[in-house]
Amino acid sequence: MNAAPQPIQIGKDATRAPLIDPFARQISYLRVSVTDRCDFRCVYCMSEDMSFLPKADLLSLEELDRVCSAFISRGVKKLRLTGGEPLVRRGIMTLFESLSRHLRSGALEELTLTTNGSQLAKYAAELKEHGVRRINVSLDTLDPDKFRDITRWGDLSRVLAGIDAAQAAGLQVKINAVALKGVNENEIADLVAWSHGRGMDLTLIEVMPLGDVGETRLDQYLPLSMVRSRLAERFTLDEIDYRTGGPARYVRVAETGGRLGFITPLTHNFCESCNRVRLTCTGTLFMCLGQEDAADLRTPLRASESDDALHAAIEAAIAHKPKGHDFVIDRRHARPALPRHMSVTGG
Ligand code: SF4
Repeated sequence: MNAAPQPIQIGKDATRAPLIDPFARQISYLRVSVTDRCDFRCVYCMSEDMSFLPKADLLSLEELDRVCSAFISRGVKKLRLTGGEPLVRRGIMTLFESLSRHLRSGALEELTLTTNGSQLAKYAAELKEHGVRRINVSLDTLDPDKFRDITRWGDLSRVLAGIDAAQAAGLQVKINAVALKGVNENEIADLVAWSHGRGMDLTLIEVMPLGDVGETRLDQYLPLSMVRSRLAERFTLDEIDYRTGGPARYVRVAETGGRLGFITPLTHNFCESCNRVRLTCTGTLFMCLGQEDAADLRTPLRASESDDALHAAIEAAIAHKPKGHDFVIDRRHARPALPRHMSVTGG
């Protein structure tokens, strides 16, 4: 009897090919904005009277899990949840919990988030339980009054308590600070000493005069080249090779032993190794920070319970990932998370 050989049953996902763009770059990093909302109103990010998206436009937590899982099945190894403020999304821990299965299976190497820290005291231990190891906390000043001025609604003591909780839970914390002329420019050296003194890397981000956020931002522009030369008066900044695949350039501060990163949004020099794409909370996939190209994943996601249409849409999108950015940032790109969140990784 000649029975036909049975194909070995492997999970459907395992048969999906990795996502490789037309420039032979494999997509291994996905940033997902899980909400456009935030409990702060940072002056360079939002106006005070922001109006937010209708809830129906947002991907549900289940849909976010589906789309993240689809990317993971195609070779995404690093997943970063962002916002707005990701920890203000109701039920967000269930998403971390469900995504943690991919860490346990080994399909995903890192699950992380960028947060303003306000909710960390509440969630740090749970994040650790769900496999999060490292987080980025956005913090521009250690002065409570300035902090209030920058964030409009924020309370520095809550953020500091959040960082304490994160470190107590065993999370590795990196601080991201936006350099703001006339606001924190005289404090940056102290931020370096403070961050490194607590065992945290610090990344400085150059702000760009973007969009309408309710105030004139042009006067906030502080070139990082200037910040760096001022820091060099107090610290020895040694060039190091450390790269995260993103736009930051790092130095080691000899006096503290800590790492200090610089992100200038205009930099082009990471495009050639760009391994990342960004998904908005409404399911729009951006292939490049500085280009218009975007793909709607929400429609195929909602069109059927099968993920076939979703995968086809992802493949079509990646086939159009541009080579690099011209860096024409417009208002649509700028909201809600730029410059702070988006420029952290360059999109
Ligand atoms: S910069 Fe971050 S913390 Fe500030 S309002 Fe925007 S999303 Fe919120």
